[in-house]
Amino acid sequence: IPDEPDVKSIVKGNETSTFSGICVYAEHTDGALVPSVAEVIGAARQLTEGTGLPVSAVLLGSEIGHLTGELLELGVDEVWLVDSPNLQPYAEDAEARCMSELLAELKPAIVLGSGTRRGRSIFPRVAARLNTGLCADCISLSLDQDTGNLVVTRPAYGGSIVAKIVIPHQRPQMATIKEHVFRPASKVSAPSGTVRDMSSQIRVSKTVLEILEIVKGRADPANLLQADTIVAVGRGIKKAENLPLIYEFAGAIGASVGATRAAVDLGWIHPSHQIGQTGSIVKPRVYFACGISGALQHTVGMEEAETIVAINSDPNAPIFDLATYGIVGDLLEVIPAFMETLKAE
Ligand code: FAD
Repeated sequence: IPDEPDVKSIVKGNETSTFSGICVYAEHTDGALVPSVAEVIGAARQLTEGTGLPVSAVLLGSEIGHLTGELLELGVDEVWLVDSPNLQPYAEDAEARCMSELLAELKPAIVLGSGTRRGRSIFPRVAARLNTGLCADCISLSLDQDTGNLVVTRPAYGGSIVAKIVIPHQRPQMATIKEHVFRPASKVSAPSGTVRDMSSQIRVSKTVLEILEIVKGRADPANLLQADTIVAVGRGIKKAENLPLIYEFAGAIGASVGATRAAVDLGWIHPSHQIGQTGSIVKPRVYFACGISGALQHTVGMEEAETIVAINSDPNAPIFDLATYGIVGDLLEVIPAFMETLKAE
């Protein structure tokens, strides 16, 4: 891109003390903020509680001014708005360039976003352009009391450990948070924040992408995120032909059907059913783990369930360490027996 400004040079050499406050990336789609924005603002407000540090939100797009009110209601102190026809949906290259310039200009100490598909696309681009680092998919955040540096925890090495990372001196410090982990910000009764329209000060270049077609998917096709009860299936189901039993059981108790990555990778069930580190994070009241070993990459996605019922033929399966109720047995026998009992009652 020939006319791209050298944003790195703007930030380089700046004293870290000139950066302050926490800035949240206000992701939106189809004219509405995505639900995870409230979670990121909740995380930012929690971090700044009692510190006096401001929470700002960066809102970039075309004809998106109507979203500022909602951000202020969520307790944001200042909305940084860039409204430009060049910021079309999915023009993530243009958006990342615009956001880099805006952050270089307004200098927040910390920039937070959500680990959504869009967050994963925008944040690394911005971090690279600002010559700073990025901690992705964090599950907890705090501030070092002496330095104000961001301290995060996140799964590492494929989820086999949870790493605590102290982000060093560079500014801004950037992180994305895992969806559905942080409590969403509640609405404030009397919003007192303001809107700072930067549209005329920040140059927005056109995207180099050509969007040919936008094919809409359903947001949560497997209905996992709001499910009260989930029946999840793993490799222990043995073959796809046994899945109707799981659907019948789920149907009988009004549950949604989840799956491990193993079941997904084997092509037995659609990826939208996957629960875990690279799938959905769920918090149902009851979770049936059927033929699931309990690998950490799966359990990070379901360990918050209120009651976990594990059915596994191996008495030493790690899932039993987590389970509220454990049944050692062949799921192809246990589930039909369950259903017989249900019918009898
Ligand atoms: P297995 O580990 O093979 O377990 C099958 C279980 O079924 C066994 O415990 C066995 O005793 C039991 N069993 C067998 N027959 C029966 C029977 N007849 N009745 C009852 N029980 C029976 N996994 C996820 O689930 N979600 C993720 O998001 C995810 N992300 C990952 C990300 C990375 C980077 C990596 C490296 C891995 C990820 N994984 C994820 C994979 C994960 O490590 C495990 O491989 C996977 O969860 C195992 O799935 P499973 O429990 O179905 O299979």
